[in-house]
Amino acid sequence: GPAPEDDQPARAWLAEHGASFGHFIGGAWCAPSSGERFETRAPASGDVLAHVAQGDAADVAAAVAAARAAQPGWFALGGAARARHLYALARMVQRHSRLFAVLEALDNGKPIRETRDIDIPLVARHFLHHAGWAQLQESEFADWSPLGVIGQIVPWNFPLLMLAWKIAPAIALGNCVVLKPAEYTPLTALLFAELAHRAGLPDGVLNVVTGDGRTGAALVDHPGVDKIAFTGSTEVGRHIRKVTAGSGKSLTLELGGKSPFIVFDDADLDGAVEGVVDAIWFNQGQVCCAGSRLLVQEGIEARFIAKLKQRMATLRVGASLDKGIDIGAIVDPVQLARIEALVEAGRNEGCSIWQAREVALPNAGCFYPPTLITDVAPASTLAQEEIFGPVLVTMSFRTPDEAVALANNSRYGLAASVWSETIGRALDIAPQLACGVVWVNATNLFDAGVGFGGYRESGYGREGGREGVYEYLKPHGWTMPLRAARV
Ligand code: NAD
Repeated sequence: GPAPEDDQPARAWLAEHGASFGHFIGGAWCAPSSGERFETRAPASGDVLAHVAQGDAADVAAAVAAARAAQPGWFALGGAARARHLYALARMVQRHSRLFAVLEALDNGKPIRETRDIDIPLVARHFLHHAGWAQLQESEFADWSPLGVIGQIVPWNFPLLMLAWKIAPAIALGNCVVLKPAEYTPLTALLFAELAHRAGLPDGVLNVVTGDGRTGAALVDHPGVDKIAFTGSTEVGRHIRKVTAGSGKSLTLELGGKSPFIVFDDADLDGAVEGVVDAIWFNQGQVCCAGSRLLVQEGIEARFIAKLKQRMATLRVGASLDKGIDIGAIVDPVQLARIEALVEAGRNEGCSIWQAREVALPNAGCFYPPTLITDVAPASTLAQEEIFGPVLVTMSFRTPDEAVALANNSRYGLAASVWSETIGRALDIAPQLACGVVWVNATNLFDAGVGFGGYRESGYGREGGREGVYEYLKPHGWTMPLRAARV
């Protein structure tokens, strides 16, 4: 196959910093107040990439103070000037796209093909889109103000893309940010903060504090934060909702999912098979809106599963910088153990587990093969729990009503995918699905202009589009008694 992607530029950036990082606060690197650092590893090899600061309440306080100090001036710049900064950030990402793509692939374990062709271009697109909203701020949102200082907490599955989804709308509309990346994948956020500073972003507009859940909790608790925007697990989201209740902080939550992928008997089966590959094996299935529950109409079930197994046998699992792979490494041994435990639970509940004999795993590193699970009862663990790995469970249905009932039998409600060549049928089903996003004959389509978010235990609030903009503004309507206005 082709030579692996060259990791020298990413290694050089790490070496430039002595493979040891502080927080990025107020436009400068700051050593952690505790002096404590932790390792971040490349899951495909197990190598330590760098040591990263463990943030505590004092570090969070310094970052919040920097954001607070910067915010009035940042808003006072006006929408047109802020838009120029967002355009500059988009160009910065494009100029350094190779470096970002390689560093992301190394730190997360995902395939370089995905970071290069999907994550990084979508990041640039998100800043370009929100530059447009910044330009429209005075005309479109005259009676609205920014919220102030935003605490943003992101997961490890799309480290830089989730950073973009968080900070682009926030800073476009005149807020300043303290962002905490996930502990497994802090590196691209640090690179971004450094290069954003070099691209002229004023000090304190974006502050990055690294660390684990304790650092996130300190950010959630800080009284100087006006809003928390969180993407991560439903469990932590529920906790944050409890501890912020009554605090006056705004909150948006983007949480887990168990999204249905529904194939009707009149679907283009080959197209649907490719859809499944993208739905559950993109990013090793570590996708909040992964199509992780395959629901197939009874008459075509056997044929469809046979086609799917054939396709699964051709998937290649390997190291993230290998350009020929379809599936990379699982982000961390803890996550791998979680996937293994859930699949075991399924086996104990009587499910059948299938993995293609042809798919080889690398000898070292953190890998899990693409897996198909049948004989799944609708109420069982594997039908209900988010696995967050390359594991697909399948069930069948007879009628469209049964498909809708099965699809909605979930505590989650993030996304759904409907496959049928009868457009009327697909458009009839789509609004009956209790989830925030429905794709027809497609899956995993993300656009900065379209609001993304969930129902029920998948969270609330939207990211992207006009809805996403309102999440970073507050109305400041006022009225005056008419007689006072008389001259
Ligand atoms: P996680 O909840 O463990 O961690 C997410 C972030 O929260 C990390 O930065 C972590 O350090 C921080 N954190 C942990 N405990 C905290 C606490 N008590 N207070 C504040 N912050 C805390 O989730 P994860 O395992 O990193 O991510 C996987 C989950 O994220 C999955 O459930 C997935 O579905 C979800 N996700 C949702 C979306 C979406 O848009 N809906 C997108 C991506 C991922």
